[in-house]
Amino acid sequence: MQKGSISVQTENIFPIIKKFLYSDHEIFLRELVSNATDATEKLKILAQRGEVSGEIGDTTIEVILKPEDKQLIIRDRGIGMTEDEVLRYLNQIAFSSAAEFLEKYQDSSIIGHFGLGFYSAFMVASKVEVVTLSWKPDSKPVRWTCEGSPEYTIEPADKDFRGTDIILHISEENAEFLEKNRIDALLDKYCKYLPVPIQFGTKTEYFETGEGEDAKEESREVPNMVNNPHPIWKKSASELTDADYTAFYREQYPMAPEPMFWIHLNIDYPFNLTGVLYFPKLGNAMDTNRNKIHLYCNQVFVTDDVRNIVPEWLQLLHGIIDSPDIPLNVSRSYLQSDGNVKKISDYITKKVADKLNELFKQDRKAYEEKWRDLGVFVKYGMVADEKFRERANHFALLYNTNNEYFLIDEYKDKIKDLQTDKHGKLVAIYTNDPAGHDALIQAARRRNYDVLTMDTVLDNHWMQQLEYRTETGFLFVRIDSDTLDNLVQKDEEKTSVLSEKEVETVKSTFEGLVKDHKEARIECKPLSPDDAPVTITKPEFMRRMKEMQMFHGAADMFPDTYNVVVNTNHSLIAQKLAVATSEDTRNHLAQHLMDIALLQQGMLRGPELTRFVERTVSML
Ligand code: ADP
Repeated sequence: MQKGSISVQTENIFPIIKKFLYSDHEIFLRELVSNATDATEKLKILAQRGEVSGEIGDTTIEVILKPEDKQLIIRDRGIGMTEDEVLRYLNQIAFSSAAEFLEKYQDSSIIGHFGLGFYSAFMVASKVEVVTLSWKPDSKPVRWTCEGSPEYTIEPADKDFRGTDIILHISEENAEFLEKNRIDALLDKYCKYLPVPIQFGTKTEYFETGEGEDAKEESREVPNMVNNPHPIWKKSASELTDADYTAFYREQYPMAPEPMFWIHLNIDYPFNLTGVLYFPKLGNAMDTNRNKIHLYCNQVFVTDDVRNIVPEWLQLLHGIIDSPDIPLNVSRSYLQSDGNVKKISDYITKKVADKLNELFKQDRKAYEEKWRDLGVFVKYGMVADEKFRERANHFALLYNTNNEYFLIDEYKDKIKDLQTDKHGKLVAIYTNDPAGHDALIQAARRRNYDVLTMDTVLDNHWMQQLEYRTETGFLFVRIDSDTLDNLVQKDEEKTSVLSEKEVETVKSTFEGLVKDHKEARIECKPLSPDDAPVTITKPEFMRRMKEMQMFHGAADMFPDTYNVVVNTNHSLIAQKLAVATSEDTRNHLAQHLMDIALLQQGMLRGPELTRFVERTVSML
């Protein structure tokens, strides 16, 4: 037996491993199984090159749990290590032979360079034994033992098959890793798609024997295989059917509704990345859908926190990204500035835009039907990403209250004749509540104005973006933000049927009713006799500021101002209210007309609503 001491820097590293990595100590299994996978892949590469003589045989990796001995063993049938290599590789932390091997063989399927590596074993084990036999002809098996201090021993061992056993003597505090369920769960989390078959114990399989009356159910023990070594993202899109994609999706997100469609990512220059990203049915929900992209590195699960790797708006997608080119052990601030990370998000953005464009071109009708679920996503992208916005002009849709869909340019064209204001700006009229604004929408239709539906979470931001990006001027006004004709600012002269003095009477009547409501302003206008006698309007600018504030969760600083627009040409105003001799009659009529208008806006509440209802009942 030979004794030695691991090179100096390790003395400092053990406590660090134990302490600082404690919160994440479960990853030891990922690291060790990844090492086993690497060793196996390296062997396959050597075999392909004819450097290993004879068959390499079964290369299944085994994870073996022996709770009675407090042991967890990771066994591979990979390249193994000679004594010399054990001393070189295991004794020198911060010296990773992966770099050396890669340099020699230039194959990026090696997981390696994860960093924590082999020594993460000491997060959970009080003693680690490595029993290994190299593939090299005439090698002798060796056993390396270390109890978590810089002292180790190395001695000859018994082992007749090529490969490495990592024997972990699980420490008292980490007894959880002697539980089968815990290991099952960890293997499922980190190793489910590793490229080499992994076995963890056995499972019982039931099967039928005999026919008819002799039929009976029997059982047998079969190896419990942990992983699917050939996940769909590693295959080429041409070998896959829609059913393959949806089955994989269901496996990942059993509770989610079927995805709408997906993109298969596959690029090897200027960086290496594979993956499948799905478009979930989003509806109007932006937040419940986060953290559904899983990041892998050569089929090893790394994290489901992809902030700073995938831009925020793309995080609405679900699926898997697998790239050895994302640096995994560096700080997040470094990640943001990493050139590959930037290129990766540009690449995904482009693929997403191409896909949407293709779907739109292929079958516009079907695309329009999906717009309710796609819209939030596309709008988010347009607000967040300039490159995407340019592309999205070819597939972002506006839709109106008649359920017709338009590209932005198509829509501008549609409304330009009737809805251009006196300054030459296009004015798009929208509603955020088609049912609530029904009367206004009908009035707009009578004038041949078009009304858009803008009722999703991001519409405020999106509109602003569209306004800002249209140099010739493009305004969005909510249908209740002003009287209809004023919305498009035509300034048509309307003749008033009332004298100035009569208008004054009408105005003061209404003003008397709202004297306790500082937020209300009375405006008298000679509108069309067909327009409502009283309309509540909320100026666009103030309302939007308020909504923006609420979206950002800020305190409510703007008052809830509104205008009470009295149509002095309406018969109830012109022929009844203005000419009534008793003040009571005027007040009563005005109150009722105003209440109806408030009711339509959902603004009549509390005692005022009760009084309105009582008054109406007694009138009947
Ligand atoms: P990394 O995997 O990042 O290279 P590790 O600390 O995990 O770093 O491992 C150090 C080295 O030890 C590896 O590069 C490899 O050469 C060797 N090694 C570790 N585990 C095994 C194994 N199961 N079979 C063969 N060699 C191994």
